[in-house]
Amino acid sequence: MSIPTSSAPEAPEPSGTARSGRYERSDRAKQGTSRIIRFAVLIAGLVVITALGLLHQAGGIKIVGVDALCPFGGIETLWTLVSSGVFVKQIAASSVILLAVVLVIAVVFRRSFCGSICPLGALQELFGKVGKAVWRRKRPQVPVAIDKPARYLKYVLLVVAAVWSWQAGALVIRPYDPWVAWMHLSSAEVFAEFSIGLAVLGVSLVGSMVYERFFCKYLCPMGGFLGAISRFSIFKVRRNEPTCIDCGACDKACPVNIKVSQVAVVESPECINCNECVDACPVKGTLEVSTKASGSGKRTVLTPLQVLGSVVAIIAVLIAAATAVGSFAWTLPSLAESASTNGGAVNVDDIRGSMSFEEVATATGIPGSAFRERFKVTEADMAVPMKDIAETYGFDVQTDVRAFVSEQLATAK
Ligand code: SF4
Ligand code: SF4
Repeated sequence: MSIPTSSAPEAPEPSGTARSGRYERSDRAKQGTSRIIRFAVLIAGLVVITALGLLHQAGGIKIVGVDALCPFGGIETLWTLVSSGVFVKQIAASSVILLAVVLVIAVVFRRSFCGSICPLGALQELFGKVGKAVWRRKRPQVPVAIDKPARYLKYVLLVVAAVWSWQAGALVIRPYDPWVAWMHLSSAEVFAEFSIGLAVLGVSLVGSMVYERFFCKYLCPMGGFLGAISRFSIFKVRRNEPTCIDCGACDKACPVNIKVSQVAVVESPECINCNECVDACPVKGTLEVSTKASGSGKRTVLTPLQVLGSVVAIIAVLIAAATAVGSFAWTLPSLAESASTNGGAVNVDDIRGSMSFEEVATATGIPGSAFRERFKVTEADMAVPMKDIAETYGFDVQTDVRAFVSEQLATAK
């Protein structure tokens, strides 16, 4: 299958050490281990982020929401941040920091974020493995006439999502976002608020069973953004044509259907830098991740594991540094903490469903009895997150509770 990809007619020189010839059995085992480790890292990322989402929903430890832990939020808030110095609602500095981190990775290692870290990518690969087991070699293929133009859809979605969010100053694509839907699976709001996102998630995962990385290929705006940057990346997959035996193992291994065996350098923005092709190649020094050859013919070659280790290290170091200086917040501030950064005045927009009436009463100084009287809440439910009792008592946190607190604060002045 052809895809919107290309290659510069550049044939890299063999990189110095003894090169040609088939890999030994021990080398093939190392290649297998490398593939397993990449998949394990993907799954570990999925587990950690999903656990943070569950903690956020549970409300005990007040972990920040999904939007503050997604680099695409950095794109959605960019205009608001530059033009008025504020984040759109539900976005925090952490989103912008994550965007900066994935940009650094893209400049050096192409779309390694997509290929080795992204939790939605991990979910798709999981479902892809199930699909492989079910259909084995008979998995259907998307015809080129559909596949090729459909790959441009993600760029259209990138422009629509960014411009629409910038104009509205809000996360307008949130209800359609499959990752937001996944992170709300344990929430009572999931069917009411994220039914379209759930449908997109279902289509993407079932689609990935049949056709790997379905969402990445056609729908992911973040992938479109990183793909555009990755054309300028320092490290790329390069094929040494003289030693290639045209076995096609690289083409078969590629989850995004790039014809690696037909190019000298993988330049395609579709490449997620998973390095499955490199680990599938049976001939030493034929397919490598490397820099472009310098004038003297020297280039730096990294193994897939070295690429993976570097990507994980970049993420860990940058996020740890941002956390240490207080720029990357993992937990939500309480209402009282928010008020203390606002000269002691409570901003009603900071009242969230994860807070209890007790917390709101304490921070605002409004007696608990006033809340019990207005919302008919029992003494025991005063300590429960409001989003968990809103349906039972028939109120909405963002409208009813905020309006009530505004009135009470105005009356008390
Ligand atoms: S298999 Fe190779 S060409 Fe295909 S996405 Fe992974 S690194 Fe890129
Ligand atoms: S895996 Fe690809 S690059 Fe390696 S020998 Fe086979 S066709 Fe050539």
